[in-house]
Amino acid sequence: MQDAASPPPALLGIDLGTTNSVCAVWQSGKAILIPNALGDVLTPSVVSLDEDGHILLGKAARSRLTTHPERSAAAFKRFMGSDKRFQLGDQGFSPEELSALILSALKQDAETFLGVEVSEAVISVPAYFSDEQRKRTVFAAELAGLAVTRLINEPTAAAMAYGLHEQSLHRTLVFDLGGGTFDVTVLEYALPLIEVHASTGDNFLGGEDFTSALVQACLDDWKLAREPLDTKAAASLEDALEQLKCKLLDGPQTLHWEHAGQRREWYLDNELAHRIWAPLLLRLRAPIDQALRDARLRPQDLDNLVLVGGATRLSAVQKMVATLFGHLPYRHLDPDTVVALGAAAQAACKARDQAIEELILTDVCPYTLGISSMRGEDNSGAFSPIIERNTVIPTSREQRFYSSLPHQRFIRIAVYQGERPWVQDNTFIDAFEVPLTPTEETQAIDVRFSYDINGLLEIDVTLLENGERHSHSIDHTPNGLDEEARARSRQRLAGLKIHPRESLPNRTLAARLERAWAKSTGNERQQIGEWLDAFNQILSAQQTADINESRQQLNRILDELHL
Ligand code: AMP
Repeated sequence: MQDAASPPPALLGIDLGTTNSVCAVWQSGKAILIPNALGDVLTPSVVSLDEDGHILLGKAARSRLTTHPERSAAAFKRFMGSDKRFQLGDQGFSPEELSALILSALKQDAETFLGVEVSEAVISVPAYFSDEQRKRTVFAAELAGLAVTRLINEPTAAAMAYGLHEQSLHRTLVFDLGGGTFDVTVLEYALPLIEVHASTGDNFLGGEDFTSALVQACLDDWKLAREPLDTKAAASLEDALEQLKCKLLDGPQTLHWEHAGQRREWYLDNELAHRIWAPLLLRLRAPIDQALRDARLRPQDLDNLVLVGGATRLSAVQKMVATLFGHLPYRHLDPDTVVALGAAAQAACKARDQAIEELILTDVCPYTLGISSMRGEDNSGAFSPIIERNTVIPTSREQRFYSSLPHQRFIRIAVYQGERPWVQDNTFIDAFEVPLTPTEETQAIDVRFSYDINGLLEIDVTLLENGERHSHSIDHTPNGLDEEARARSRQRLAGLKIHPRESLPNRTLAARLERAWAKSTGNERQQIGEWLDAFNQILSAQQTADINESRQQLNRILDELHL
């Protein structure tokens, strides 16, 4: 119950991206993007550990990816749900701990912008994120002091943002290619209803793979192997090719790179890039075909095509999409921020904000959920689907199963998600046992799966023999993270020293200058070194006005030099 005097909770939407994260708030009937300490709405999802043990986030950390790769981590969202640890100096972090640090920064930015404390948010996740990846995202938010009011699928959030602006979209395919994930969603606008028909994707395909393919092609051309490159050299080549990739729309580009005292060049135009990316472009086709098949549509049945995610800026991707669908995509909202805007709109919907009361959204469960059953000669675990992929949620479905032997004392229900016929090839979610009264005959049980809009699964098992019912909620603790492990994560993060928000603009410029120094040579390098020294001197004098003026001037110069 809310105190009459306390302000209503902020309606926050967060796009926790592989490359960048964005935060938006629903205010006065519309979604507004929240700027970070540097005034930017995109916060790079990068974390770095300073030499003095302070954590740096966002743009400053991104600059340090090339100068201090062994103390910095990026693209950790790709490993959400795995056991991977990222080593930053002498400290190891899990993907959800790093995500929590980014979420804390966004929370702080929102609090500064709104002037009130923020404690809850709608957070977007790739539609094809598994149950475990969703749980880890919720845990990351909890570590950051945010309660997740809803997880919304990224393409669905984008569709919401478009739904607020457009009245005539009808049957639409949302093509969402971010830094690390690819989602395809087919939906229909019959406003105020937005109905998702099918959602599918690839959790291991994104813009980062396009950059990695360039790195490999470039090394192959130079007849260099990746292994002998030290971390710094590999990071600097990757950084240079990432920038080259993003400039390809302006025309052919030449990379200049110096390594082990040798200057090298590499030429890239759209034609060559197309050839290098052909296998990746082909991989984009399978989820599109599947989403259309599941929605029972052909490409020509679509009225519109919406592109979301930074990597849809690649002309090779746009060309592939236009060829496949026979027309150019429709995109007037910024693909980098549209998901956060939609997530904030969803927060408003959830809070029944008057301005958005009209919009109704139906979503689907993007993967098949079922249990292990005995089949085949060796009785190995076959996967028996109960909720098929792309079933509209919330949903409740029931299937009948039988115990395998007479006198059986219990039956084990093992829950999996996936699209393969054998459970060993699918993803394990949870297992529990239901006691049986032993009888001469095998016994029938009805297993009911109820799946709600947040992806929470409830299972009811009814024993037909005596009508007994057993309910089981899937544990929403991430696998392998018991209360003790979670408390440890909380304690570790609480013990970290984080650069105060106010100092970020200066730290960011210092990191940018260091990166520019590392990238350049000769006179340019000398000049950057002088700027770096001068800026450090101004910082030590601690005169705020001088610091601000010098920072603005240097940032402007570096912008002009594209450094
Ligand atoms: P997102 O996760 O949506 O922020 O997308 C990030 C991905 O978009 C990264 O892999 C970037 O390399 C890619 N990207 C951003 N801008 C461009 C651009 N202008 N051209 C090509 N790729 C881009």
